[in-house]
Amino acid sequence: MFDLVILGAGESGTGAALLAKAKGMSVFVSDKGSIAPNYRKELEAADILFEENGHSDELILSATEVVKSPGIPESNLLVAKIKAKGIPVMDELEFASRFTRAKFIGITGSNGKTTTTLLCHHLMQACGFSVGLAGNVGKSLARQVITDNFDWYVVEISSFQLDGMHEFQSDIAILTNITPDHLDRYDYKFENYIQSKFRIIKNLTPAQFFITSGENPVVLDEINKYAAMPNMIQAGLSEEKSTKLFFDGSKLNFKIGTLGELQIPANALPISGTHNLMNSMMAVTAVLLAGGTPDKILAGLETFQNAPHRCEAVTTIAGVQFVNDSKATNVDSVKYAFSAYQKPIVWIAGGVDKGNDYAELDAPVSEKVKAIICLGRENAKLKSHFSKMVPVILETTSVTELVELAMSQSEKGDTVLLSPACASFDLFRNYEDRGNQFKAAVLEMEKKMSNQTTTIK
Ligand code: ADP
Repeated sequence: MFDLVILGAGESGTGAALLAKAKGMSVFVSDKGSIAPNYRKELEAADILFEENGHSDELILSATEVVKSPGIPESNLLVAKIKAKGIPVMDELEFASRFTRAKFIGITGSNGKTTTTLLCHHLMQACGFSVGLAGNVGKSLARQVITDNFDWYVVEISSFQLDGMHEFQSDIAILTNITPDHLDRYDYKFENYIQSKFRIIKNLTPAQFFITSGENPVVLDEINKYAAMPNMIQAGLSEEKSTKLFFDGSKLNFKIGTLGELQIPANALPISGTHNLMNSMMAVTAVLLAGGTPDKILAGLETFQNAPHRCEAVTTIAGVQFVNDSKATNVDSVKYAFSAYQKPIVWIAGGVDKGNDYAELDAPVSEKVKAIICLGRENAKLKSHFSKMVPVILETTSVTELVELAMSQSEKGDTVLLSPACASFDLFRNYEDRGNQFKAAVLEMEKKMSNQTTTIK
């Protein structure tokens, strides 16, 4: 009865519904929970049939095709019924890509997706391309292809989205790295998650490109299983790891076939840390392959601003630098954050531990951390692991007190780094809320301190 049924009315589902309607399809949207008011209003305005707080199986099973929100697991009972009936189930990106002739730079990975996507999009713009930003960041692709006539889209793609992509082709595919994540959605089998990530190259033709890591052991192992990948470019942190795309200790080197050679000094990059050397090499290579020119790429690097909460410099107070890396909710990303800061570090960690193995942080913590402040309800694991390595370990659940404690432990030249290695749900709504409260408290303290200085003068 319906050409298309959409499960889940978030940004991607609503975008898909609006696109389907604009293309003259009969469409029905079904959400198990309540639909956010802004999306409900849009569906109503477009005269799209929808239901919320429950699914009507019969209507749904009358669909020719189904678009499923990436948040709904494959194991969902209704999804199983739809599949059993032979109705194709796809992701919104798959559906939307049918309605545009634009080329795609598709970016996935366990860490670094958003940073690489935003940098790539920014550099494409700096090079003068007509380019949109979609996927896991910003507006849905479906919503955009209704009216936008971009030549390119840079798309951040999660593994959940990849699971629902069948014909989609990235002209340039980037896989930043793979470390265990989201295993609850993959039958607790890391192998399944790896296969999901590698779907990014499933439909790659010989005219298309695959940019990935020459460092990440999981990616390297998997690549070894493939016979040949002629159009693969790997990024390495030394020339031994990759001769085409590598960091030589001070510069990024690009030696990519017919594109000529390019060098970019690491200190010209707008984002720091070894992880960001990798992210930058991959983003710049994609833009070079798309036809961007070195001079415009270099100019673009000067004006890039990363999304907040990722090694974000907040301010410097009395010579102490405050950094908000609230997005670092696993040990791997904290390891990379430590690589970005040389000075003595006051490290703010803690929250909801997702099964962390803190031993992975022993080396940077014993080398760089002078004090730890635990920001969580339950800090016993952190405290017992690091008590022999770090002389001062304090605890608090108040962000205002946190910032005061951090300041009291610091001296000129130090860095206070909020990079928690944990989820935030014990004390905050989400990692953004944690980062925003931290930034506000730091700026409040800065204001107070400058008022005090003025009064004393
Ligand atoms: P994602 O979108 O994949 O979650 P982000 O760019 O939002 O990635 O970064 C998430 C966290 O991971 C941040 O704390 C960031 O510092 C860290 N990170 C970014 N890039 C990498 C990388 N290449 N390897 C490991 N960690 C990274």
